Amino acid sequence: MECSFCSNPAKLYAQHFGKYFCKQHLERYLAKKLKKTLTKFKLVSKGDKILLNLGKSPIDFAIEDLFRKAVAKWPVEIVEKKHDCNKTLNPRTLDCEVVEIVEGLINGRIHETGYSKGAVVFPFRDFSSKELFVMGWLNGHKKEGKKSEVILKSFQGVAPKLSLLRSWDQIQRVSRQKENSTPQRSNKNKA
Ligand SMILES: [Zn+2]
Repeated sequence: MECSFCSNPAKLYAQHFGKYFCKQHLERYLAKKLKKTLTKFKLVSKGDKILLNLGKSPIDFAIEDLFRKAVAKWPVEIVEKKHDCNKTLNPRTLDCEVVEIVEGLINGRIHETGYSKGAVVFPFRDFSSKELFVMGWLNGHKKEGKKSEVILKSFQGVAPKLSLLRSWDQIQRVSRQKENSTPQRSNKNKA
């Protein structure tokens, strides 16, 4: 199969928008999406010292690569030690986010979601693990003793996960607005 954007062989099919990606176009797509997220939600500010709280999976390598490139020309610093940082990057992806939401519902607990919480930022929270995994894998970060096909099977269903995340964000936004407007309403009732 060919890439939907050039004549290179496709390495990933993104079912949720019906496009085939070669290595180069997958990276370009992810990089663009990350920059948009960082800017839209103001996740990085001038002078930030950011710690990347990452593991050693192909996903973590892709996240590090994308993030370093995204901020390369920005006036921020990536630091190695916790006591040097004022911000931490959490590598939570769409798949982790959805598991947290569902587990929370099962246990009667509300999982608070958002792109940042205090000094922690979650710029990859709506990125599919599958897309990041494939990027890391194509860049040579293989997972020892496992076949990529086996791992990829565990990352199915991007579209329903995305729609669950969006709905959950919306529910929280509405409930926060209600919480904020409740006291005013009760004051009005008293008057
Ligand atoms: Zn391409």
